[in-house]
Amino acid sequence: MAGGLGCLASATASRGQSNPPLLTFAYGRQFSSAERKALEAWSSVLTRLADGWWRTITTRLASPGFVTVDQITIEFNDIKIKGAPALTHESVIEVDARGLLARLRDPDALAMIAHEMVHVVQRYPHAAGWLVEGIADYMRYYVLIPDDPGRAFRPDGATWHDGYQASAGFLDWVEQGHPGTITRVNATLRAGEDGQALLRETLGQTLQQAWGAYIAGKPYATSAEAWRRRATASRG
Ligand SMILES: [Zn+2]
Repeated sequence: MAGGLGCLASATASRGQSNPPLLTFAYGRQFSSAERKALEAWSSVLTRLADGWWRTITTRLASPGFVTVDQITIEFNDIKIKGAPALTHESVIEVDARGLLARLRDPDALAMIAHEMVHVVQRYPHAAGWLVEGIADYMRYYVLIPDDPGRAFRPDGATWHDGYQASAGFLDWVEQGHPGTITRVNATLRAGEDGQALLRETLGQTLQQAWGAYIAGKPYATSAEAWRRRATASRG
């Protein structure tokens, strides 16, 4: 199993008794009773993890005047877009039920929701896709579940604007050198500005130059060991 699970467990935290639950679950199509039972069991594990994730997401991605929602609907459905395991629109995270039922014990299926929960709060009027997905994966792989081997990526041919793991690793490197950058980039994106300009300004160089420096430092996410752990985890 993935090393990420221990971290998933430690991320658990409870919300106040008087709060309504953060997550509610909806069933967008018919399920057999066995499927329904399996999805309910999976949902209860997710529920225990999500409160802690949410607190961290809403704190790290806070910005002046922005009010986060306090309820998210997880809807089990058949997603028509091929290959999409989940989609987020506003406060609804649609999860592809067929795909999930095939990997209920895969910790990656739970961690995927951490990524989608970041999309719930992004609310950027317009933003480069790589930043949207890069920030979601940065939060997932470097903040919420930092031991998750799924963050590994192949450096050859990768770019800072790939989105997902490559961009997440790059953004983590920027944050390490300039703490608070991701919070500031998120705030400018929400305000409708271009977060890339802020990144260039913070780094004092082009993003291409910075990416070169990041990769030259041989980040762990590109190491053979990270790849070995990723391959082991995916068999779990
Ligand atoms: Zn995404």
